[in-house]
Amino acid sequence: MDDILIKAGQCIKCGRCLAVCPVYQVSTQERFSTRGKLTLITAFLNKEITTSVAFEETIGACLMCNQCNQACIFNLDVPKIIQGTRKILWKQRRLHLNYPWILNKFLANYQRFHLGIWLRLAGLFNPSLDVPSKPFLSGRVPENPNAKVAIFIGCAINLLYPYLGERIITLFEKIKIPITIPKGQTCCGLMAYSLGDTQTAQSLAKRNVQIFRSLSVDYIIAPCASCFHHLKTYEVYQKAGISQKVIEFSQFLLRQDLEVSSPYKVTWHDPCHLRYHHNIWKEPRALLMRLGKNFVESSPNGQCCGQGGPFGLIHPKISREILKRRLLKIEASGAEAVVTTCMGCFIQLKEIGNKRVLHILDLL
Ligand code: SF4
Ligand code: SF4
Repeated sequence: MDDILIKAGQCIKCGRCLAVCPVYQVSTQERFSTRGKLTLITAFLNKEITTSVAFEETIGACLMCNQCNQACIFNLDVPKIIQGTRKILWKQRRLHLNYPWILNKFLANYQRFHLGIWLRLAGLFNPSLDVPSKPFLSGRVPENPNAKVAIFIGCAINLLYPYLGERIITLFEKIKIPITIPKGQTCCGLMAYSLGDTQTAQSLAKRNVQIFRSLSVDYIIAPCASCFHHLKTYEVYQKAGISQKVIEFSQFLLRQDLEVSSPYKVTWHDPCHLRYHHNIWKEPRALLMRLGKNFVESSPNGQCCGQGGPFGLIHPKISREILKRRLLKIEASGAEAVVTTCMGCFIQLKEIGNKRVLHILDLL
């Protein structure tokens, strides 16, 4: 706690972050700005204020996009400060019955209970979501003990878009690289981590570590940018030597001799986890530029879609307004489809934004 207190207290309220924080730009509420949140966190940790609905709302008003970190002269790691505060709040709350809590429990436990019940619960979030009858990982997947590449599939592909899992198998067959997709893998734990539920985040990560550490692979590839980020940065994965093997999907693909094709004019949507946390934005564009005139730019400096893990559930109105601004840019670019690799952005743009959304896998 002292660490968060020191970091939050370092903010000098200069306001440079106001220009980049999507939540502030849409809400224009000072308490939702980066410096507003840091001021309240400092007051809370100093016991000058106690927790309240308004305070929890404020702490929930962060997409963990990391844009403020880049604007801040002190490089304050705001997502870490926010997560640390959420951790304290998560421990203090006795009753958590809300949408983010249900989603967190669903992702942590869907393998233990009857899938149909959980999928119906998941359907609560968007009744129009076309939920497949069985997860990708319960079908036939390659489990090759000699493979040098392992795939971390992630919840969204496993539960909602299994066709993308099939495309991974086909792609690696095409490039003749044997892969293994261990069936015992589970959620990476990012949702639990973002909510401050570290107990669940740790137990999920430990389950994955057990599975992936037993493999003699050189690379672990996650086709979802958010899973990639969590596998790369979460201390449980780092300490177990998993993070060191994780390679970002577009960086891996760029090394392969691959043709990229699309019947649509496409634009790239930068996942915040790639662009603002890992400075990865050139590689996916380099791949899409192979499309020639079928690639158009819609956000040279990146632009958040408003999803942000639990953010869209905690602040749906602000989330949709951020999305609206992103969609306007996409429309202005003349693109007929948006390509991304973050499954959170994929869901936000497709299921809420009603856009034609493709994964990079759809073009290979
Ligand atoms: S840029 Fe950094 S120091 Fe300035 S107000 Fe924002 S968080 Fe505080
Ligand atoms: S991480 Fe993103 S949403 Fe959160 S305070 Fe920083 S800029 Fe705003």
